[in-house]
Amino acid sequence: MSVEAVQVAVPVPLYRLFDYLPPAGEPAPPPGSRVLVPFGSRKLVGVVTGRASAAAVDPERTRPIERVFDAGLIDPELLSLMRWTTRYYAAPPGELVNHALPAILRRNREIPTPRVHWLRCTPAGAEADLRRAPRQREVIELLAAGARSREALGEAGASAATLRRMLETGLVEACRAAPPPAAPGPDLNPDQRAALAAILCARNRFETLLLAGVTGSGKTEVYLQAARHLLRRGRQILVLVPEIGLTPQFVRRLEARLGRKAHVFHSGLGERERLETWQAARSGEAELLIGTRSAVFLPLMRPGLLIVDEEHDGSFKQFDAMRYHARDVAVLRASRLGIPIVLGSATPSLESLHNAERGRYRLLLLPERAGSAGQPHWHVDDPCGQRVEHGLTDKLVERIRKTLDGGEQVLVYRNRRGYAPVLICNECGWQADCDHCSAHLTWHRSANRLNCHHCGRYRSVPARCPECHSPQIQAVGAGTERIEAALMELFPEHPVLRADRDVVRGRDDFEALLDQVATGDPCILVGTQMLAKGHHLPGIGLAIMLDTDQLLFSADFRAPERLAQSIVQVAGRAGRKQQGRFILQSRHPEHPLIQTLADGDYLSAARLMLEERRDAGLPPWQNLAMVRAEAQKASDAAGFLREVARRIDGGAIQVAGPLAAILQRRAGFWRYQLWLMSESRTALSTETARLTEVIEAMREARTVRWHIDVDPMEV
Ligand code: ADP
Ligand code: ZN
Ligand code: ZN
Repeated sequence: MSVEAVQVAVPVPLYRLFDYLPPAGEPAPPPGSRVLVPFGSRKLVGVVTGRASAAAVDPERTRPIERVFDAGLIDPELLSLMRWTTRYYAAPPGELVNHALPAILRRNREIPTPRVHWLRCTPAGAEADLRRAPRQREVIELLAAGARSREALGEAGASAATLRRMLETGLVEACRAAPPPAAPGPDLNPDQRAALAAILCARNRFETLLLAGVTGSGKTEVYLQAARHLLRRGRQILVLVPEIGLTPQFVRRLEARLGRKAHVFHSGLGERERLETWQAARSGEAELLIGTRSAVFLPLMRPGLLIVDEEHDGSFKQFDAMRYHARDVAVLRASRLGIPIVLGSATPSLESLHNAERGRYRLLLLPERAGSAGQPHWHVDDPCGQRVEHGLTDKLVERIRKTLDGGEQVLVYRNRRGYAPVLICNECGWQADCDHCSAHLTWHRSANRLNCHHCGRYRSVPARCPECHSPQIQAVGAGTERIEAALMELFPEHPVLRADRDVVRGRDDFEALLDQVATGDPCILVGTQMLAKGHHLPGIGLAIMLDTDQLLFSADFRAPERLAQSIVQVAGRAGRKQQGRFILQSRHPEHPLIQTLADGDYLSAARLMLEERRDAGLPPWQNLAMVRAEAQKASDAAGFLREVARRIDGGAIQVAGPLAAILQRRAGFWRYQLWLMSESRTALSTETARLTEVIEAMREARTVRWHIDVDPMEV
């Protein structure tokens, strides 16, 4: 007798699917169904991925599905994308449940009925005799001019109970939000027109278009016009942005120009809001979707165009559980959907440029700023032979003064939080290090603590050296906190605003800070990476980047790329309105990377870096995956990886390591990695998929924490 069993992805960290029988007397639920299954002594919500092979199923030992919540909830396109992603990134297949279903749907409960946000009057409501029901009559009167939001009705005095009653009796009904009116944009310049034409030319097929435009060149205008065309044809647009890029400012700009409500999706939303966006995406009600990384897995009913803004940004890669890169998943998704995808950046990743040079992506260039402003003037400030105080040379201080006196704003970028990154004893050379990580502790002066930026531990600041008891303890180097303090002292007449994770805790803090800058009054902004991203700061006349030399010589092969991207992004903050100025502090002004960038040419610098990667046999010329392991004993982690290396199927794969991670110890764990490289993507994928099962069965795997990282972003 043949059994009709199905395979179910269950959210557990195991590298396999599980077989279940249909609920008694019911047919097998189709793939994509949300089901409740018994798992050990627990009950878990999983997703049906397909039929189980009848031969492999033992009807005696296979348990039935307890309950089918929603048959076919995940459509075949999304389900197949999820399956591909878990396999490609060597993640447990159960991870697809966590990424395919919003948190509420991962619980043992029905889909909650959608909340009603907008109401309109029904014909029955318009004709009803409400002389005896004055409250309801008021609501009908309020709705006479058109739909209103629930909040607006509440403010006008309608109670929730009244509205509920009227919904039940059919006097009012739920409806879509009234769309904001679409505002016209500027006429595109010839470069923008050419880029738009190329995108629209691909509107009915798959093509990846890499829109490389200098900051302020009008990339967003190009996306907007392309999106507009496709929206008019009734298609959905999905825009992916980096974590920090999803400001209300950006969302409002898109809504205002496209005349559509933007449905947002990111980790900062409540569960209910995430579910609502997910449902609106699935039903097709949401025409414009904007989100961070995980939005790439939103169900789409009528997709027309995918856009990845700031495609080079590191936050598109997830660092735990399923280590996917949202940009790359988006490209694959567009290819399967047969629709175009636009990747936009002022500083495209070497991966994307490489793909463009090999003819896989189409490169669209916007070489000039769109408005009147040209590119900023470049200077390199070499602190060698100058007096440096709190990280600033006299020359820099003078430049800042001139800029403020001229009524403009200044941005100072320093990629280090805290007051000082190192605390040392001048007598014996002792340094304040973390006991659990291979790293120095950072002195945070206002909190009066020594913090470890890797494990989060902290301790008090010693008054004397713990080794030799000398009071000669000195802070070396300057983080944002110290630079802020120095600038406050130097320029007491101007506001100094700091932007780093110590003071800016959430989107709201950041928005408040941007609002203050938007007044345009002279001020100094001091901050980390947060300031380098694509925010519109039109008043900045001078941008300064401090002390980044160590990245030129880092052991991480991606460090120069990230440095070049930060340099260009920070330089691009200057002079949005008029000619701006950028100063890079460096002791290596003759370094080829800095020289090329100083000529104002990121793409040439990128080509230089691509050649270096080719000569060193590194990505994107080679495909790379890592097996990472960490353990409290270094020998356990390294020994485990040596065992893994022995089991790797050589042939098309080169293996290197075990190698120590750059941060060799973190939170008490020693960290090692094994590099697997191949020119063949298929060979590497096949091997990583096989390895997950091989490793899972290894005895040594129980003594370590391990995972596979495909296309890793850090070393
Ligand atoms: P990017 O996305 O490349 O940083 P934006 O699209 O934000 O650039 O454009 C930068 C500024 O230039 C914006 O204020 C935008 O309104 C303006 N802009 C863009 N294109 C044009 C154009 N063709 N004519 C005039 N102004 C433009
Ligand atoms: Zn000492
Ligand atoms: Zn630590």
